[in-house]
Amino acid sequence: MHEADLVVNTVKTWLGNPILRILLRWISKRTEKGSKLERALKKYAGGNEKLSLQEKLAYFIVKLALDKGSESFGVLKEQLVESLKNPVVRRGIANILEGIGYYGIQRPQTTAAPFLVVWNFTKQCNLKCKHCYENAELKPMPDELTTEEAKKAIEDFISAGVVFLSFSGGEPLVREDFFEVAKYAAEREFYVSVASNGTLINEKVAKKMKDIGIQYVEISLDGFKNTHDEFRGISGAWERAVEGIKNCVKVGLDTCVATTITHYNLKEIPKFLEFIENELHVKRFIAFNFIPICRGKEIINQDLTPKEREELLEFLYSKLIDKDCKLDVFSTAPQYAVTSYKFAFGPLIATHFTNKAVMEMLRGRTKSLTEFIGGCGAGRLYCGMEPNGDIEPCVFIPIKLGNIREQSLVKIWRESKILKQIRNRELFKGCGECEYKYVCGGCRARAYAYFNDLQGPDPSCSFNERYWEKVMHILS
Ligand code: SF4
Ligand code: SF4
Repeated sequence: MHEADLVVNTVKTWLGNPILRILLRWISKRTEKGSKLERALKKYAGGNEKLSLQEKLAYFIVKLALDKGSESFGVLKEQLVESLKNPVVRRGIANILEGIGYYGIQRPQTTAAPFLVVWNFTKQCNLKCKHCYENAELKPMPDELTTEEAKKAIEDFISAGVVFLSFSGGEPLVREDFFEVAKYAAEREFYVSVASNGTLINEKVAKKMKDIGIQYVEISLDGFKNTHDEFRGISGAWERAVEGIKNCVKVGLDTCVATTITHYNLKEIPKFLEFIENELHVKRFIAFNFIPICRGKEIINQDLTPKEREELLEFLYSKLIDKDCKLDVFSTAPQYAVTSYKFAFGPLIATHFTNKAVMEMLRGRTKSLTEFIGGCGAGRLYCGMEPNGDIEPCVFIPIKLGNIREQSLVKIWRESKILKQIRNRELFKGCGECEYKYVCGGCRARAYAYFNDLQGPDPSCSFNERYWEKVMHILS
């Protein structure tokens, strides 16, 4: 067994201990000052919090656990203390530990609250993309959250323990209060990112994004000029998006190019990666899985075959591990986790958490961790929120679980029957019989889009070839 697996298994056994789990549940309970666990972590990181008696006890247990944990992982205590000074890391660890306390150790794990919320901040957009999963239009939805409600939602996310907050849309930058709300989130110590079509990002906007504390920007570019403009429905969109990317890079924002892969652009991807690496100088590329919902249904026949997807993922992974390629190359296809799994000691893929720090942390931790992270994170590590506050398992799964105006995120997360279904991989058709069910789980959005069944098969994959044939039969 590789050393990393041994360590993970030791920690699993240790954290799986029922007494420790009871302690974790107790430590995770919140007082009026917030999470006891987070406060104990802050103290451990050298903070000078004044702790109540209960918090002192929590701190004692956390200290014991972390000292032992750092020893098992071969991490120097000083390093651990240093990384815990980062509030994002603290909140992340608290969320995972609280999840283990609440749900026990699972394959794959469900966190105490969504690690990541992707917030479709508005339905309004200045483009008309063919594959838009939101049916975005020139006008916003009539009942979008107001600025005050948006801030209230952020407060709710804090008390839940959410770590990453990603503003998406529509085009988030068209909303007048975007900067006010994003700044509010950054000040409340979320890792804030933005997914944008890039067309509104001039240098001043890019600088403002950086100044208010946005850490990561993901701009959609569907290939070279003709492909992009055809896809986006507006001539000149490519130049403006490229300008937006250059502006973000120029001001030092961590910038990613995001591309939804279909037959429209599959063949140009290798050249396109060279272009974005050498001409645009972005750090990261993420290949989005095409999900045939909303306007995307109209181009369903452009979907990749399982073989094409597999070859694409292998190509992407080869770029990721290529020392001469400066790009970090990811995909939202959960099968990418399987691709990485096959290279036992290469970089491991946390499919939706495409953050360099996370990847570095996971490097070399193979089997146990891939099963812990588990590919598709919908309703398990992540959820989506619509402009009107409706919570969904994933922004590509248009099923309302509840609304943030009426219920807390944690209540929805813990009580939704739909989420219980989505977390139960044993019952998935096709994917449930697959040896990689814990590593990947299939894209639940694709299963739902094609079969109207959250526990259905993801037809994107060669293990589910028979379902792909069924789909093709229906489409032809
Ligand atoms: S059958 Fe499902 S779980 Fe298995 S690799 Fe394919 S998509 Fe993933
Ligand atoms: S359902 Fe899962 S794999 Fe598919 S897009 Fe959503 S989070 Fe990603």
